[in-house]
Amino acid sequence: SALSFEVNRRPDPAQAETIAKVHENPGFGKTFTDHMVVIDWTADGGWANARVQPYGPFQLQPAAAVLHYAQEIFEGMKAYRHADGSVWTFRPEANAARFARSAKRLALPVLETEDFLESLRQLVAVDKEWVPDPGESGEKSLYLRPFMFASEAFLGVRPAKEVTYAVIASPAGAYFSGGLKPVNLWISTQYARAGAGGTGAAKCGGNYASSLAGQLEGMEHGCDQAVFLDSSTHTYIEELGGMNLFLVYKDGRIVTPELTGSILEGVTRGSILELAKEEGLTAEERRVPIQEWKDAAASGDLSEVFACGTAAVITPVGELRWEGGSCDHRRDGHEDTIATKLRTKLLDTQYGRAEDTHGWMTRL
Ligand code: PMP
Repeated sequence: SALSFEVNRRPDPAQAETIAKVHENPGFGKTFTDHMVVIDWTADGGWANARVQPYGPFQLQPAAAVLHYAQEIFEGMKAYRHADGSVWTFRPEANAARFARSAKRLALPVLETEDFLESLRQLVAVDKEWVPDPGESGEKSLYLRPFMFASEAFLGVRPAKEVTYAVIASPAGAYFSGGLKPVNLWISTQYARAGAGGTGAAKCGGNYASSLAGQLEGMEHGCDQAVFLDSSTHTYIEELGGMNLFLVYKDGRIVTPELTGSILEGVTRGSILELAKEEGLTAEERRVPIQEWKDAAASGDLSEVFACGTAAVITPVGELRWEGGSCDHRRDGHEDTIATKLRTKLLDTQYGRAEDTHGWMTRL
């Protein structure tokens, strides 16, 4: 890395018992580790003051541009503890590359891949005890959240000349507390999360703010998540608020919406496409009409639907609901065989229980 990090340790880090208590039932995104990484950027000086410091509040001017114009991006990844105690992460170069793409779209400075990776290493080195053992569920981890925002105090609308990059970390259990219980989805036609030429392919905070109304509407209709359609025709499936979507057909095809520019390119999505081919499935990336899902659920051709992302890995989908109707591809004796198989494969690789044949793992 081109940056050298100063390490300023908290004088009173959490005791082992406190950490053990958090690890018992981590939930998601509730508790944070003792430290964080912070790096400053200025238009004049570039990246500087790389440091590890105690986790705690930022000093931010009320006029900080991020609070007004949402010039902000983030990433989501995990640190996994292997049986020998070593700590690894999954395809971090892919997250670094996506972070750089997001930065360009939001007119933020690019942090080089090597510096991005080093920032993760630095934080995990100091907060290593916070990385849980996989545990009984076999899927506990330390969630890593790199993010970057416009910290300059200025109310003009232009790319900020002062930016802050930071990484925080939070122990994570299973994302959905219900375990592998299928989630029900609501088709949001009233709201879109992203549109053509917009920021849908970037991981920026604004996309998540714009997904909330659709998400709320879904919850009001008894659903767990909303599935968003293309914003111009409301015809094609895009993705969920925080996960990509796959349909699996009886004839061995596995289909996911192609990257249109308004969909986030999930690292899990890309990995599943590779694994699926190795499993002998026919992987298709194309436009997927929502009507295709409804028709195939009715005809019985659709065998599985699942959502995927770093946090939940793979989650089976059950019922699909919309204003005035619903469908369900599941019949008596339904099993999410493919979803479960791919899920196990990913988890076994991530936790070092299976050989990493793709070179996907990086030691932190
Ligand atoms: N779509 C959206 C909108 C997301 O926020 C995420 C989570 N990053 C994903 C898809 C899945 O991406 P990944 O597999 O890289 O976590």
